[in-house]
Amino acid sequence: MPSHEEGLDPDNWQSFAKAVHDLLDECIHRLQCVEDYPWRPVPEDIHQRYLIGESPLDMNELVAALKTDVMPYATGNTHPRFFGWVHGTGLATGLLTEMASAAMNSNCGGRDHGMTYMEREVIDWTKSAMGFPAGASGVLVAGTSQATVIALAAARVRALGPEVRVSGQAGQWLTAYTGPGTHSAIRKAVELLGIGSENLRIIPENERGMDPHLLRKEIARDRAAGAMPFAIIATAGSVDLGKFDDLKELASVAAEEDVWLHVDGAFGAWTRLAEEPWRGLSDGIELADSLACDFHKWMFVQYDCGLVLIRDEHEHRQAFSMRPSYLTSYDQGLAGGEPWYCDYGIDLSRGNRALKVWAALRSYGPQKLGQAITRCCQLAQYMAELIAEDGAMQLQAPVVSSLCVFTADGRLGGAEQSEMNVAIAQRLQIEGAAVFSTTNINNVTYLRAAITNHRTRRADVARALHAVVAARDRQL
Ligand SMILES: *Cc1c(COP(=O)(O)O)cnc(C)c1O
Repeated sequence: MPSHEEGLDPDNWQSFAKAVHDLLDECIHRLQCVEDYPWRPVPEDIHQRYLIGESPLDMNELVAALKTDVMPYATGNTHPRFFGWVHGTGLATGLLTEMASAAMNSNCGGRDHGMTYMEREVIDWTKSAMGFPAGASGVLVAGTSQATVIALAAARVRALGPEVRVSGQAGQWLTAYTGPGTHSAIRKAVELLGIGSENLRIIPENERGMDPHLLRKEIARDRAAGAMPFAIIATAGSVDLGKFDDLKELASVAAEEDVWLHVDGAFGAWTRLAEEPWRGLSDGIELADSLACDFHKWMFVQYDCGLVLIRDEHEHRQAFSMRPSYLTSYDQGLAGGEPWYCDYGIDLSRGNRALKVWAALRSYGPQKLGQAITRCCQLAQYMAELIAEDGAMQLQAPVVSSLCVFTADGRLGGAEQSEMNVAIAQRLQIEGAAVFSTTNINNVTYLRAAITNHRTRRADVARALHAVVAARDRQL
């Protein structure tokens, strides 16, 4: 009879160790042979395979299930020809740090333990990489979506005062301003904060992004109508086309108008580590009141990890700090380690995101990571060159950073192009040849490559485009 005092640890550590080593070998193999593991369709019986049921698996059976039923059906974004959406590709260091994190099981909401200090170092390093002042603060979060909510909540406190946390914003009409290429995460944040997405004004673009002249006019019009303009949301690296707003120009509008400047730099902020001309795209990012960016996209770190930086720590804390008596801190012991991250964001219990970022920075170094970012931009450029050489493929827009958007056959009408581009994207995904995603611009659906992939080489770009051409010519 099992005793009721038994915990949940293995009763045979030797066989547990064997199972872990076995899985580790499989993980290393997967990383070493990434090319053999593209996305593949999940089998019809996946639900059956994942049934929890009543009879527990032993560790060896669990490892076998991971190998046969789980790991083969990943997103496929570790593959060198994965260019879909804006996905990160993962780093070998992640294998080590996820293992260490699991053994440590730290709760990073606060308190006095190593990971509190490591997160501080990761944030300080990023502040300096982005040119933010020493008095800025930050917190690691799930991603840019959450970072945006935190940043705009702080902007709202600046506009309405900390009382808004108590009384809500009833009767106050706040408006925010962004460009046409803005990400849906911005709209969601504005909805979640109760500002309402109809109060998120979309300012038309000129050739350098959101038009500052039209922005000023819209702000004046809203003020005249009784609204309180509270935030300009600039984009550094738009999700569709990789475009950058003129951050310096928008910073001067924000200063003149006395509104908060938030920069969505989900992936594009990391052009700060790249060579020119790409680095210059994010010039002015250091002038923002807040910045959202992701380590899990263009810093290649395993999911999930984003970051919000806020220029003024006091404003950050004003929006989030809250300490009931069960969270009192003391000068000694585990309840030390102030400041605590629970005062900087939404979460109290938090996983260990700092370790995987720290290991990446410590092990590859900013220079090598920067080279990988530069290479992605060069590969997007190369893709555009190959597209221009083809008689029928056409770019939708010039390549600015790491995004390349094109049609497989520009000779066709819009509807036929859309149908063909969708069919090609699907076929290449199913064949495991390459992953492009699609996007709709001016009523045409295009193929879209976002190269945030440190494993991609020139030959992969050429092979992926060959596959596009072959699929197109089979259909013609
Ligand atoms: C991915 C992305 C987001 C959303 O970030 P998550 O990390 O997915 O929450 C926001 N803005 C841009 C430009 C993005 O590329």
